[in-house]
Amino acid sequence: MSFRILTEQTGIFESAVSIGVLKMESGFAFIDSGVEDSAVKKALQSIGDGWGAFKAILNTHAHADHIGGNAWSIRNRGVKTYGPEGEAHYIEHPDLEPHFLFGCAPIPELMNKFYCAKASDVHHRLRPGSFELEDRKLNLIDLKGHSPGMLGVITEEGLFHVADAIMPESLVTKHKLMFVHNLGEHLETLERVAGLAASGYLLSHGGYLEKVDTLIDLNRSVLLEVNDLIFTLAAEGAEDTTIHAGLCQRLGMVENPGQYYLNHTAVRAHLKYLKDLGKLDLIWDQGRLLWVPVSA
Ligand SMILES: [Zn+2]
Repeated sequence: MSFRILTEQTGIFESAVSIGVLKMESGFAFIDSGVEDSAVKKALQSIGDGWGAFKAILNTHAHADHIGGNAWSIRNRGVKTYGPEGEAHYIEHPDLEPHFLFGCAPIPELMNKFYCAKASDVHHRLRPGSFELEDRKLNLIDLKGHSPGMLGVITEEGLFHVADAIMPESLVTKHKLMFVHNLGEHLETLERVAGLAASGYLLSHGGYLEKVDTLIDLNRSVLLEVNDLIFTLAAEGAEDTTIHAGLCQRLGMVENPGQYYLNHTAVRAHLKYLKDLGKLDLIWDQGRLLWVPVSA
C-alpha cells in the first residue's frame, strides 16, 4: 500500500481497493474512499502534506468497498462528496444494497462492511459529460453495467479512472464469475472504454496500468465463457439456484452466505442477458421457476 504520483496533478493510493487522487487548487480530492475509515486514514498518511488539504471525494459508484470512508471524511475533514446521480440514493441509504442482494430484510451476514457501508450524504450529483471539480476539468464516462450508474473519470492529462469496469488478470482468472448488475450494459461499457484513448488507466482493484486492450479482451472473453457455461447448465431446464450450484462445481467456487448472495445476483444477471438474447425463457412448473432453452 503506497501513494504513487502519476503526473503533477494525479496520483493513486494502491491497495486492495485503490483510491485515485486529484490535486486541485484548494487541496486534493479522492476518487472513492475504500472499504472503511482506516482506508482513508492510511491513504492520507501516505500522501502526507505535499498535496495540501483533503477537500472532496468523488465516488464512482455505490458499492460498499468504494464509499466506506465517506462518512468519516465528511465528519472529520468536512469534505464535499460527489456521486453518480443514479446511485446517490444507495450512498445515502447503503442498507439498500443488502436489501437489493437479498430481496427483503437482509440476513446479518449481508450487513457487514463488505456489503453495507456507513451512510453518507451526496452533496453533488454527477452525470456523464464534462465536469469541473474546482480548477480540474474532468470528463465523466458512463460505465453502467457493473452497477446501475457507475461513472469513470478522464482527467485533462488523459488518465482514465475506470473504477470496476475492468478487473485485473489475477482476479479474472482466479474467480471467473465477476459481479455484474446488467451484463448487456457492461459489455457495451467495455466496448466504450476500449474506444476511448487514454495515456494510462487506474483500476480500483488493479492499480495503475499503461494499457488495457488485452485486459479488456480477457474480461470480455471470461464473461462470455461463463455466460456459455450458464447456458449449458440450463440445457435441461433448471432453477437459478441449481444453475448457481452447477457453476460452483464447474468453477470450484466455495462461498460463505454473503458471497453466495453476491454471486447469485451475478448469476441472475447472466440469465437475464440470455433471456434478452432470446436464448433462454422462463417456465413456472409447480412452484419451480425453470430457465429453459428456447427451441429454434
Ligand atoms: Zn463495484
